[in-house]
Amino acid sequence: MANVRLDSIKRRFNNVTAIEDITFEIPDGEFWVLVGPSGCGKSTILRTIAGLETATSGKLYIGDKQVNHIPARQRDVAMVFQNYALYPHMSVAQNIAFGLQMRKVDPKVIQERLMTVARSLCLEHLLERKPKQLSGGQQQRVALGRAIARQPQVFLLDEPLSNLDAQLRDDTRAELKQLHQDLGITTIYVTHDQVEAMTLADKIVVLNRGHIQQIGEPQNIYSQPANRMVATFLGNPPMNILPAKFMDHSFDVSGQVLPCPLVIQEKLRPTAGQGFDLGIRPENIYLNESPRRSPKSERRFPSLKAFQDREHTQQQLGELLVEVKVVEPLGRETLIRAGLPNSGVILNIQTGADVRLHSSDDAFVPQRGERLSLELDLDQLFVFDSATGDRLYP
Ligand code: ATP
Repeated sequence: MANVRLDSIKRRFNNVTAIEDITFEIPDGEFWVLVGPSGCGKSTILRTIAGLETATSGKLYIGDKQVNHIPARQRDVAMVFQNYALYPHMSVAQNIAFGLQMRKVDPKVIQERLMTVARSLCLEHLLERKPKQLSGGQQQRVALGRAIARQPQVFLLDEPLSNLDAQLRDDTRAELKQLHQDLGITTIYVTHDQVEAMTLADKIVVLNRGHIQQIGEPQNIYSQPANRMVATFLGNPPMNILPAKFMDHSFDVSGQVLPCPLVIQEKLRPTAGQGFDLGIRPENIYLNESPRRSPKSERRFPSLKAFQDREHTQQQLGELLVEVKVVEPLGRETLIRAGLPNSGVILNIQTGADVRLHSSDDAFVPQRGERLSLELDLDQLFVFDSATGDRLYP
């Protein structure tokens, strides 16, 4: 086992810079996940650590040793690829044992490791089969088993679950976490799936366009995203972004008024007309009242003054009218996609299985085109610089 350190690693392919200024250190035994959209450079970083790519510049260390010029097979890392890369003419047992035989490990040790790995990955009854006689999930487990049997200093996993169906993916993800807890081998895992990143990682590295956006523990990245890209990448459904202008103690959001909490005014000292991107997660939006169900005259929307009066005493709420676009019942919860009228801004709203108003027990099914009033929990509001995307608040 070993720590892995990247110091200003850059990789160019002709005139394409795949990764730039990649610097981080993974302590011995930790599980780190590299996450980001397609093409952000995740696989290039992993392949560079494996020795399958050569860094254009920068230094790479495994343990105390700089390994830039050490060939892949001498780096003592095991990589699991998305496409498994099993030897088709070998049985499961031979696939798992092959790497050890090549390293001239004692046959007795090989047999022991084979059986341990087969037991822990439920492969015992499949040892004599060839890869083509296995399901995708079983092949995936063999590829993992082959890597584990090697007992390398570092595991490198490149989207290892992406070919599995949803159920198997969940199960194998849990097995992977358990395996890491049992073996304690430093692991670097590449995915574009933010659920895998959140559930598996000790630390997440969020990448975009070849650059690191943020490194941190999953919950910290979720609650304190460095910028708009990170905020919208982690979280499903993603954080809602509302372009807004500051106007006299409030934000103008596509012509609607959202109170600007005092703490935000004190921290940002915004000027009239200044543009921001406001962020609010779907779980921090409630359904207030439906104009269809509650005639306008009877609605009790708090005024800006009322909002300011109660600001220091209770939850701060802001209200927006939206128009329902799509309702997606997901069993345990329902997602509503709704648009701000006269703008292209779409909000994701997460409700319970039954859609209910914030202060009512009555369930109802919102209809496409229906206008809904939303309450936004302004204590949970994020503010981003609309030009750079950097988080300004909190
Ligand atoms: P994905 O999730 O789609 O696998 P990724 O985040 O792993 O993407 P990389 O495969 O690391 O991304 O690629 C990063 C960038 O480098 C991309 O723009 C890609 O087109 C480019 N790239 C990768 N390999 C090569 C290559 N051999 N030659 C030229 N460009 C390359």
